[in-house]
Amino acid sequence: MRVFSNPIGSGALWFDNLATADGAPVAYDPQARAFLPVQPFCINREVIGCNWIAPEVGAFCRSCAMTALAPDPSIPNAIPNWAQTEAAKRWVLDNLGRWHWFRPEDPGARPVFHMLAEGATPVSMGHAEGVVTISVAEADPVLRTVRRQALEEPYRTMIGHMRHEISHMLWWRLSLREDFLDAFRDMFGDERADYGAALERHYNQGPPPDWKQRYLTTYASAHPHEDWAETAAHLLHLTDITDSFIAAGLSSPQLPEGGWDPYAEPDTARLIHVAASLAVGVNHVNRSMGLSDLYPFVLSEAARHKLAFVHDWLRRGAQGR
Ligand SMILES: [Zn+2]
Ligand SMILES: [Zn+2]
Repeated sequence: MRVFSNPIGSGALWFDNLATADGAPVAYDPQARAFLPVQPFCINREVIGCNWIAPEVGAFCRSCAMTALAPDPSIPNAIPNWAQTEAAKRWVLDNLGRWHWFRPEDPGARPVFHMLAEGATPVSMGHAEGVVTISVAEADPVLRTVRRQALEEPYRTMIGHMRHEISHMLWWRLSLREDFLDAFRDMFGDERADYGAALERHYNQGPPPDWKQRYLTTYASAHPHEDWAETAAHLLHLTDITDSFIAAGLSSPQLPEGGWDPYAEPDTARLIHVAASLAVGVNHVNRSMGLSDLYPFVLSEAARHKLAFVHDWLRRGAQGR
């Protein structure tokens, strides 16, 4: 994610800011990728702290307009959890916009989000034909940690959920093209394999013993759909780590010279090489504060091949090239 300039004073603005350091209200224009000191603000600004501009007074911003179902406000913490969930969604949508997804120049369908709070029964996240279902309860760090430990995952965040579930939606968008599915099946296997049975096998038997050579995560080994979603989410993680590192003004001998834009890099091997070296460095920095690793994963040869496949399709897919 980029760091933005203050339109009415000095200093920087961060993507989630609602106001400058002086307290002047600002809003983010996702089309211009810049902060503006002007209205109209998204009508969710007072409700969930959305800081994007709206196309007209009394309207939702581009991101909030994609949310068809908001959580039941009578469920405890539904609204603050939803606010955090929408913040993660705006971040991921803005990242995807760097490859033109869901911007006006993208002629395809937008994701429709169902943001559900959890009452007595858990909400399962998922995607079906353009509809992305997200459990806003996972914004709660205690609940998220309990689930992460139960599933023996090294990493679980709302941004991670957004990237994974939207990646299923991106797969669906690409599957509407004539040239995608054969190439996908050559790389990931046949996604027509019984999904329910595959997940049941995964949860009963665990991943294959050689999963580290073939997949980024244990869950990716469950089914070709999950392998795609995990791989695409990791491509988004790695590209955004790199973009954010540069935007923060940090430097590394691994970084290409001046003005390099990781989202514009066509060479996946180069992008992943840089991203992996930065991730290793920031992992070390995190350990200085006793925090978990920023990116607690190892990139096998097979994973790098799959990341290259996803990179190629995500870079050209939004505009049908
Ligand atoms: Zn909004
Ligand atoms: Zn999935």
